[in-house]
Amino acid sequence: MNPSYDPAKPHHRPQGFQNVHTEFTPKSLADVLRWRWDASRRGLPPPPQAPIPRLAPDLDFLHRNARAAARMQPTVTWVGHATVMAQLGGLTLLTDPIFSERASPVSFLGPKRQQPPGILARDLPHVDLVLASHNHYDHLDEASVDALNRQSGGPPLFVVPLGLKSWLAGRGVRHAVELDWWQSHLLQAPAGDVEVMLVPAQHWSARGLTDRMTTLWGGFAVFAPDCHLFYAGDTGYSRDFTDMRARFAPRQRPEQGGGFDIALLPIGAYEPRWFMATQHVNAQEAVKIHRDLGAKQSLGVHWGTFELTDEPLDEPPKALAAQRRAQGLSEDEFFVMAIGETRVLRPR
Ligand code: ZN
Ligand code: ZN
Repeated sequence: MNPSYDPAKPHHRPQGFQNVHTEFTPKSLADVLRWRWDASRRGLPPPPQAPIPRLAPDLDFLHRNARAAARMQPTVTWVGHATVMAQLGGLTLLTDPIFSERASPVSFLGPKRQQPPGILARDLPHVDLVLASHNHYDHLDEASVDALNRQSGGPPLFVVPLGLKSWLAGRGVRHAVELDWWQSHLLQAPAGDVEVMLVPAQHWSARGLTDRMTTLWGGFAVFAPDCHLFYAGDTGYSRDFTDMRARFAPRQRPEQGGGFDIALLPIGAYEPRWFMATQHVNAQEAVKIHRDLGAKQSLGVHWGTFELTDEPLDEPPKALAAQRRAQGLSEDEFFVMAIGETRVLRPR
């Protein structure tokens, strides 16, 4: 049963949730076996041709910037996979924190981390806010949630989709808010109010075989005075992003500073397409999302860290570069970073 079930909402089901524009049917066991068998027969994914770029994090700057509160410069730092540390509005936030060795329910099996995190959890500035997009193991990592909940200076606020607050409570997390799509939570931050909104994504959820799509999934729009940040979570391509642009147009007019200053968009885990297209975009579709949203800049994430699918770990940025050339986009408009690298953004 879905305890939040509201028959008036098109994405609600008595047993869970569904996407708005494309009905998602979890893949059958036969399809999963066909994919895995095919991948192992063909030796997929091939190993990367070059190491994934890394940079030592500028911890001095990040900590000074965190302490600057209202005078903070907006930044994004790639920790790895979909984990980004963003500083905006005087707050330090993390998207989908995973610092563990594996994206799996057990420590001895499942996708293994191919590079250490760009910043270790213990080296982070105090984290004020954690945005968890859904409960897949590469996005909601129990050990990382636990470590953040016990950070010195008090736990961050965890913002999660419907159904995940009780999962957090079961792990001792009390400072949490759960949201439905288009619902917001307002935080009083050093530079003024920051609004955090859960938005739709074309995806699904599960931690086991019997809980598929019983808790909600999504992305986040964060509206701070100095930065509008978008994080897509995991998503296939859908009309959700043009819906968002229309909905946010009244607060993102040119004289108000325009569209999202930075969009964190997934560019990896897309092969084979017959299996992945309804849940993960490829680079071409990520560029479409960037354009649909009208984002000023996008950062490609969800690659280079865990081998989840059939493409080589270092292919997504090459595919993105090819799409930039094909679609007339500059590198500054849709870029990737080294693990551990920080980029300072222009404030709105
Ligand atoms: Zn996922
Ligand atoms: Zn994922």
